[in-house]
Amino acid sequence: AWLGVVYADFDNFKFVNDSLDHIAGDSLLKTMSERMVAAVGPNDIVSWLGGDEFVVLLIDPPKDTLTIGAMLHRIRSAVVAPVEIEGRSFRITSSLGAAIYPMDGGTAETLLANADAAMYSAKESGGDDLVFYVPEINANLRERLTLLEEFRNADPSRDFVLHYQPQVDLNSGEMFAVEALIRWRHPRFGLAPPARFIPIAEESGLIVPIGDWALREACRQNKAWQDAGLPPIAVTVNVSARQFRENHIVAAVAEALAESRLDPKYLELELTESLVMQDGDRAIETMKELRGLGVRLSIDDFGTGYSSLSALKRFPVERLKIDRSFIQDLPDDEDDRAVASAVISLGQKLNLRVIAEGVETKEQVAFLRENHCDELQGYHFSRPVAADAIPALLLRQAIASAPRPAKERR
Ligand code: C2E
Ligand code: MG
Ligand code: MG
Repeated sequence: AWLGVVYADFDNFKFVNDSLDHIAGDSLLKTMSERMVAAVGPNDIVSWLGGDEFVVLLIDPPKDTLTIGAMLHRIRSAVVAPVEIEGRSFRITSSLGAAIYPMDGGTAETLLANADAAMYSAKESGGDDLVFYVPEINANLRERLTLLEEFRNADPSRDFVLHYQPQVDLNSGEMFAVEALIRWRHPRFGLAPPARFIPIAEESGLIVPIGDWALREACRQNKAWQDAGLPPIAVTVNVSARQFRENHIVAAVAEALAESRLDPKYLELELTESLVMQDGDRAIETMKELRGLGVRLSIDDFGTGYSSLSALKRFPVERLKIDRSFIQDLPDDEDDRAVASAVISLGQKLNLRVIAEGVETKEQVAFLRENHCDELQGYHFSRPVAADAIPALLLRQAIASAPRPAKERR
């Protein structure tokens, strides 16, 4: 006979639970378990593991994973139906991971572990899904754990490096700032881009020390360029949600400035739109404290979140960075044209500078210029480069803009 072992976890339960009192939270859990019991067969077992985790045992199900899949989707639909509590209506989505005896394991232990891994994989890809165990899941999980371990053992000043990407003024063509972008010198796959490790860094909390390091290093580097006699430019540093929320960001910035003796006006922090929108008034408080230190702020990935105009007006920021996804298909895509030009004029009305990120082509530059965008960043001008490539760029520009000697001028 077959046996189905299924891990079930509610995706947004914690969020809903936190907004309810204890009794309502318990009754929500009770409703959910009753729905699950009603959705399975009379011999099947639903057991509560605590929190919002359940294990469902499908006893002697049809020997066909499609049918089992359909049974499990019945559980998910039962769970997701709206539930009314204290006059409010909630929808709970769930992530299910299934392992089937005999294919996916011969012991209860293996089956549970594999179902758990499948559930984890459903969560990882955004939740609200059902995943059947396959051996690759364990390989992925192992890879992730290895990566996390390597990340944990990494020493920032030795294993991480910042690259810098120029930001240029569209009118003068001059580079006035660089964005610091972190890279990991990974023992197995070389120089790894942030997409490979920022998610685990966020999840594990390690983003905070790494982010602090990036902040200090960017300030140190910028001051070193200035001390070498190069024309001063600003450096912009990305701030992650956790760094920002764990409220030591203000102290961390103050420390990085003091340590490097960089003039605060040459440091700008990039905060993402979703970050500042989520935290509301508290975010504004923190932003004001940061402004108090003399640094500038910008909103990164602008257009991907849902800023309300009224919120935007209250943010003490200098610049908006139009997200690359709206620039990519310019000038052909009609929607992107509309978004890009709307953001540019919105910025102008609010007295903010606007920079387009991810600009790659002449046509994009032409569109931005026609629409009076102030600034751009992207492969069109330069990819992110190692720190030692920046002086040459700055010097070339200084020479080009210097008044020419008299004899050459004729
Ligand atoms: P972001 O802040 O939006 O940075 C812009 C990303 O777009 C960079 O990717 C950059 O290399 C890439 N990019 C720039 N111009 C172009 C272009 O013309 N075409 C294309 N296709 N891409 C372009 P990168 O370096 O991989 O960084 C990705 C993200 O990782 C950043 O997005 C930022 O959110 C995050 N990140 C990078 N460094 C740090 C850091 O020190 N701390 C934190 N918390 N996050 C960081
Ligand atoms: Mg950025
Ligand atoms: Mg961005």
